[in-house]
Amino acid sequence: MSMFDDIPVDVGIIYEGERIRGREMQVELGGPREEFKFELVQTMDLDEIEDGKVEIIGPDLSELPEGKNTPFGMIIYVAGEEIEKDLEGVIERQVHEYANFIEGFMHLNQRYDVQMRLSKKSYKKGFNSFKFFGEVLMRLYKSEMSFVEKIQITFITDPAKVEEWYGKAIEIYEARDAKARGMSDDDVEVFYGCSLCQSFAPTHLCVITPQRYANCGAISWFDGKATAKVDPKGPVFEILKGEKLDDLTGEYEGVNQIIREKSLGEIERVQLYTAFGYPHTSCGCFEGCAFFIPEMDGYGVVHRNFKGETVNGLSFVTISDLTAGGRQVDGFHGLSIEYMRSPRFMQADGGWDRVVWMPVDIKERIRNYLPPEIVDKIATEEDVSDLDGLKAYLQEHDHPIVSRWTAAPKEEPGEITLPTLELPASAIPIQGIPAGMGFRIILKNVKIRAEKMIIKADKR
Ligand code: SF4
Repeated sequence: MSMFDDIPVDVGIIYEGERIRGREMQVELGGPREEFKFELVQTMDLDEIEDGKVEIIGPDLSELPEGKNTPFGMIIYVAGEEIEKDLEGVIERQVHEYANFIEGFMHLNQRYDVQMRLSKKSYKKGFNSFKFFGEVLMRLYKSEMSFVEKIQITFITDPAKVEEWYGKAIEIYEARDAKARGMSDDDVEVFYGCSLCQSFAPTHLCVITPQRYANCGAISWFDGKATAKVDPKGPVFEILKGEKLDDLTGEYEGVNQIIREKSLGEIERVQLYTAFGYPHTSCGCFEGCAFFIPEMDGYGVVHRNFKGETVNGLSFVTISDLTAGGRQVDGFHGLSIEYMRSPRFMQADGGWDRVVWMPVDIKERIRNYLPPEIVDKIATEEDVSDLDGLKAYLQEHDHPIVSRWTAAPKEEPGEITLPTLELPASAIPIQGIPAGMGFRIILKNVKIRAEKMIIKADKR
């Protein structure tokens, strides 16, 4: 007998990673087309919660138009003797895993970026009310996180109410994020690791420090501390820093050791404050991404909600695909917005002096944390639309990157440098490795030089 027998669809770990395409979806909750969406956990006193209650404000799943998206908010109220405010971030992040256990349900991202889809198939099986979604979440929380003694959930689809709560949620996230500001990584003996995203990025581990917030932007060092205390065997755990191997790049013996263990030897070293060499791995739910622009010898930074093309013609999705999956890809670096506020932000690569482009939206959000002398030197999509325009802008505004152009040796004309190139083994026959055996060949700092390029029609 399963604890989900009364739920119309199956619930289990096998459904994690299920993707629901647009044409298969009954409804999309939140997502990139909706301005207002959020998920939020709030801790309460035990007597303030009606355990097991599900409240729905606005149309229920059965009342939402088929195949469309809707504004969406979800507030999970929890209480327990051991529960403290610093646990909210991790309890909230756990929605991602639990929601993805539901057959025909997909949950992406976090906080104000959430995107959820219910499949038509599961809807037809009877999963037609938020009541079922709430039941699954509440049962999983209580069985997996024993410190959650009471829980109740409110789902909101009424557009005005979602907008109203969105504003409150943003203030709550900001207060959580602000807590670790001012602390230094040197002030603490332990960092925290989070392996929640290993279900879809098996070699990924977030290393959460006071000055390097988790990639998803949902878990701070304080959140890690509170969670590791109440659930030491859970997915968020203590990492003893050990000997500091390099202050500039942020490399620690203890971090390397745990990364090696948790990635089963795939990742050997991680340097916390760089996007080159041994960068922090990127799972896929990062809030933003730094991407190297070789023509400028500098970085662009883009966030998930940026809908256009970056200055070098890439979308966030393309950039994200280049680095997601728990890999270390030179020059592409998944990160949180809070990390952009950190004094350690990519310090080994030159920090903000190396950033040449970012969307105006994100620039405004973090403006007060940028070194004042650089703010107006970083171009946005409102200033330039291509690399020629960017180059002129940087020169005109005397961006520090310009001095690197004259100092750096020129590359040979016609030569392309790729930070990383991954090929199937069949692409380069190697003696002893039969084609099709599932090997990957990863070449670092690849230079491609061709005397001629011929494009032929494929007549196969
Ligand atoms: S992005 Fe990192 S911190 Fe956030 S849930 Fe995934 S592993 Fe944990």
